[in-house]
Amino acid sequence: MEEQSIQVELSTAKKEKPQTDQLEFGRTFTDHMFVMDYSVTDGWHNAKILPYQPISVDPAAMIFHYGQSVFEGLKAFRTPSGEVQLFRPRKNFERMNKSNERLVIPPIDEDFVLQALKKLIEIDQDWVPDTEGTSLYIRPFVFATEPFLGVAPSHQYKFMIILSPVGSYYKEGINPVKIAVEDTYVRAVKGGTGEAKTGGNYASSLIAQEVVSKKGYTQVLWLDGVEKKYIEEVGSMNVFFKIDGEVVTPKLNGSILAGVTRDSVIQLLKHWDVPVVERRIGMQELADAHEAGLLEEAFGSGTAAVISPIGALGWNGKEYTINGGKTGEISKRIYDTITGIQYGKLEDPLNWVE
Ligand code: PMP
Repeated sequence: MEEQSIQVELSTAKKEKPQTDQLEFGRTFTDHMFVMDYSVTDGWHNAKILPYQPISVDPAAMIFHYGQSVFEGLKAFRTPSGEVQLFRPRKNFERMNKSNERLVIPPIDEDFVLQALKKLIEIDQDWVPDTEGTSLYIRPFVFATEPFLGVAPSHQYKFMIILSPVGSYYKEGINPVKIAVEDTYVRAVKGGTGEAKTGGNYASSLIAQEVVSKKGYTQVLWLDGVEKKYIEEVGSMNVFFKIDGEVVTPKLNGSILAGVTRDSVIQLLKHWDVPVVERRIGMQELADAHEAGLLEEAFGSGTAAVISPIGALGWNGKEYTINGGKTGEISKRIYDTITGIQYGKLEDPLNWVE
């Protein structure tokens, strides 16, 4: 791909920054955004950093009709010395290209967009909050812009990055949540788009969340879309269990999103010589392990929370309390280590920050 330059237009009216203890996830955006366009003749071109503003898109743009789009989510952190660092950003752009391939969206130049992201953050660096647990959430996304109502891959796209300062996920300390095992709806099926980060997966998952939240559960545990027997993910996180001293997580099978945090958890456990296995996990097997007193911990993993301990699982009219509803030892150790590395407070043995 041809080396592109990035044109920069700085904002003249700076927005007021909210108090960091009042930040709500994903509601506040910084002063600038990154945009580039794709056309068949020019490829990716027109790379710009502009003042954050609404964009103009044709009503017939294919994104609105057939949902051809991909997004990513990652974070930047303020270190004690005041510097800003990213956590494994290359993994996100790599995953974006895998999602792009599935959605028939042309690939982006991973090095170039990382460079663009770094430039954007440098311009908006005052927006990276510095109080405990806060960070800058980064949302790269790409969508089909060709005005055409035929069902086909678009010939035109827009790629953008927007930035949003976010507050601490655990304002009152890391807290286990109650999860309902979902046996009506499914998130994804093999051969579908589950392993791509595309909006449709999230649109189709909303209803399950609506139903269980009325019953007092925070999220759902997704089972496989074919037999509804095997565990896949929890809400929009990957899921881990500690059973009889061994940490297990569902093996990537085509319908599970390959989380960057999931990979970090696995690598960290290996680094510590803690047994960790990726394999198929049956819901019945999990219930049996619980009956036998061997289900020691359960937690979700994802960029937003890093680790979200599961205190109880509701399944088939029964409630399975895990670790007395408290945060487990390994869950806490992983959480403390990953966040320590992200905020530059701990050594980075696996070279995750840049
Ligand atoms: N599964 C789904 C469906 C998700 O949306 C996410 C969040 N990106 C994850 C898992 C966790 O991925 P990551 O650790 O990269 O945030």
